[in-house]
Order: sequence, then C-alpha cells, then structure tokens
Amino acid sequence: MDQYVCSRCNKSYEINPSIWRCSCGGLLDLDKQKCELNKINHSLPSLWRYNQAIPVNDWIDTTMGEGYTSLIPIDQNTSHSYFKMDYMMPTSSFKDRGAAVLISKAKELNVKHIIVDSSGNAGNAFAAYAKRVDMECDVYINDKTSPNKIKQLKSYDANIYKISGTREDVAQAAQNAVDETGRFYASHVFNPYFFEGTKTYAFETWEQLGHVPDAMIVPVGNGTLLLGVYYGFIELYHQNIVDKMPKIIAIQSENCAPLSEAFNLGLSDYKKIQSKETSAEGIAIAKPLRAPQILEAVRNTQGTFYTVNENEIMQASRDLSNSGIFVEKTTAVNYAGFLKYKKKDSEIVVVPICGSGLKSL
Ligand SMILES: *Cc1c(COP(=O)(O)O)cnc(C)c1O
Ligand SMILES: [Zn+2]
Repeated sequence: MDQYVCSRCNKSYEINPSIWRCSCGGLLDLDKQKCELNKINHSLPSLWRYNQAIPVNDWIDTTMGEGYTSLIPIDQNTSHSYFKMDYMMPTSSFKDRGAAVLISKAKELNVKHIIVDSSGNAGNAFAAYAKRVDMECDVYINDKTSPNKIKQLKSYDANIYKISGTREDVAQAAQNAVDETGRFYASHVFNPYFFEGTKTYAFETWEQLGHVPDAMIVPVGNGTLLLGVYYGFIELYHQNIVDKMPKIIAIQSENCAPLSEAFNLGLSDYKKIQSKETSAEGIAIAKPLRAPQILEAVRNTQGTFYTVNENEIMQASRDLSNSGIFVEKTTAVNYAGFLKYKKKDSEIVVVPICGSGLKSL
C-alpha cells in the first residue's frame, strides 16, 4: 500500500484525506508501490501516457488532456536548446500537471470539498479540476492577485477568500480553515501527490528528446516543478532507463531569492531574507517549506542557482514576445536565467514556458 512518510522524522501514515502534515510538523513525502515506466501508453497524447508510473487509478473523469506539451527549438542561433511549452494546458500553466493528479487522488478518497491557497495559477488549476469532478473549492488568495486570475477562478465557481498580507499569511488562513472545517487541503506544497503530476515534465522531456538533456532550467518559488523534474529523472535513473541525471539550474528573482542565497552559503535550509517587490510574483516565495529537498536536489545533480533582476526579466519578456511567445513575467524569468547560464555549444538545455501572459493582465 502507498503511504505518506514524514520527510523529517520518517513516521508513516496511511493515505487519508485529513492528514496533510506530520504530527512533528514535518512535510510528508509519498512512499509508493506502483511506478512502471516501461509501460508507456504511446497512443495517449497527455501526461496519462505514463499512468502506470502515476499512483492514482481514478483519472478518466478528471483529465482534460493535460501534459505532453511540445518541445520547440529556442531559435536558429541557439543550438541544442528547447522551450517546453507548458503554458499550453487546460488552465494555461504547468500547475495542471499536479492538479490533475492530486484531484484524481482526492476523488478516489471520496473528497467533496477542497481548500487551496495560491498566488493564482495553482488555485486556478485546482478550481478547474475540482469543478470538473463536482467538488466544492475554497481558494485563499492574496488581495493583490491579478484580475484575470480572479475572473478565471470565478468562472469555475470557486469560493474566493482574499487575504491581505504575505504569501505565508494566505497559507495560514487556508490552514486555519482546514483545521476548522475538516475539509481536504489540496496544497501543492504539502501534498506529495502534486509532485506525481509535475514529475511527468521530466518523463516527457526524456521521451521527446530521446535522451536526457544536459541541463534543465527551472524557476523556483516553492519548488513544485523543480522537485517534479528531480523525482521524474530519479525514477528514470533508478529503473535503468537513463544512465545520467541532468543538471538542475534553478532560477529565482533577485528580489526574492532565499534559496539561491542559501545555496551559495552552503546552507541546508532557506535563508531568512527581506524580500522586495518583484514582477515575478509567481515565484516570490520568501519561506519555501521544501527548501531542504530543493537544495539537496540541485546539489545532487551538480546544478546551481542564478538570480535575475527586474530589468533582465523585462528584457526577457520582450524577447519572448518578439518570438511570438506571450508569457507572464514569472515565466520571463526562465528565459532570463537561461541567458545567464552560459551553456557550452554542445550542451542540450530545456527551458520551461510555464505560464501564459493572458492571465497576468
Ligand atoms: C507556480 C509557478 C512557478 C513556480 O513554481 P513553484 O512550485 O512555486 O516553484 C513558476 N512559474 C509559473 C508560471 C507558476 O505558475
Ligand atoms: Zn514527522
């Protein structure tokens, strides 16, 4: 049987909708039985082509065809580098990978009402998939969330709670509501089923390239894409399907870079920082709770961190628009980071296009 295991004290729990963290306060990981990558369903153009490697069964009613996004060359002048177009998703961000899997699991557990906290994209992904399978959805957001993300939430009939304060204040409000109501906490940070979705980003990259790239550029706020990339390639590696890991090149906004600073100082948890405003709102996370796992993942792959400043983000955003790709500023960060990473000519690098510009207006 699959079970939750505490990342801090190793205590295990059976999978139960009311458990979202360990009694010691630690975050839960997933210890799972089923994970087979040699049985890809090649006729399915979505992340569910790897359903034998995803530990949920009840996904047919949930899926909207998310995943299996295209990989395109960055441009003629940059050899061996690709954008992975993850903004081509049902709710226009990579969060659909995690939400489709986590909501499928919640449905299997007979959950009827979920609580989510989000700066925008995760909330929209959860609200959409919850609506699709008739779950009620309460979303806690910051009162500065962009109007289009709120319109999208409303379209899914989500119950919206606007909280003024930091990202942590929003999460706390959601957690208080979870404690008071006993509703299911569909958290992309706490619930490890989210990573069972984001790991398919790695599977697809490997399958589409036909091999493992040298480096994966990944934006980091809470690290849900980064850990998915890491776990995905680890699974390929442990099943002897690939014989190396890509370097993970993690990118943060200079104005909010608690992980990059910790990495450079050799710390094993995030550095307490005084964060400043950044246009990359989607990765402005001052206290990333999975920091120890994120730092370990980057170090284990011989990867590194880069930060990008507001000018570099603006310029990268214009460059992307000039090649027809309209992104939110949070995603311009990824391209700005790629430009900072001085790759060797022969190196193969993949850069995610995570979120559409249409939502951040
Ligand atoms: C959520 C998100 C990120 C960052 O993901 P984390 O899990 O917080 O590291 C980056 N870009 C976009 C568009 C996102 O929606
Ligand atoms: Zn514990």
